[in-house]
Amino acid sequence: MELLKNRILTDGRALNEQVLLVDSFLNHQVDPELMEQVGEEFAARFADAKIDRVVTIESSGIAPALMTALKLHVPMVIMKKQPSRILKEDTLQTEVFSFTKNAPFQLTVKAKFLPKGQRVLIIDDFLANGEAASGAIRLIEKAGGVVAGVGAVIAKVFQPGMANLKGAGYRVEVLAPVRRLDKDQIEFLEEKA
Ligand code: 5GP
Repeated sequence: MELLKNRILTDGRALNEQVLLVDSFLNHQVDPELMEQVGEEFAARFADAKIDRVVTIESSGIAPALMTALKLHVPMVIMKKQPSRILKEDTLQTEVFSFTKNAPFQLTVKAKFLPKGQRVLIIDDFLANGEAASGAIRLIEKAGGVVAGVGAVIAKVFQPGMANLKGAGYRVEVLAPVRRLDKDQIEFLEEKA
């Protein structure tokens, strides 16, 4: 998605070989018009996948996931990162290792928002090691749902998440695949036209 890649080149910043900052338009300050285009692009790519609902992981996945759900005309479900005091009954949980916090957390969702047999699309801001997406997949499958696809706004393809998910047979769509990062350098993977 050229518009997104150009925005990453203009306003994103590679901190080092591992971390890309996009907090001026994606995960701190959010550009709603860009998010709308992101939602349209995901909706087009998964138009044939018979999606019943979109699932994301709080908080950075919410903006792109909501726009995707809007364009697909389906509900969006937010998986929580902390077990809440009021979210006790009927919850599904799995441990996930956080890339940004470098610590584990409990990914939590109410089972009633993932009815059995639903075809679910996971949308997140980044795909790095794939821990967050794998946790979401475990919960969806535990609930009796079908993971119809995983969409990442940005994937750092030099980290193992994307390849592992594809290797496990999941459909993965990435809008901006990053091939290499270095301090203040960002390179995208060349894609087939
Ligand atoms: P994973 O679970 O695939 O290792 O990492 C995905 C999560 O970590 C994403 O939801 C995202 O919030 C965060 N993340 C991973 N890599 C980056 C990065 O380079 N920059 C930012 N801002 N967040 C990242």
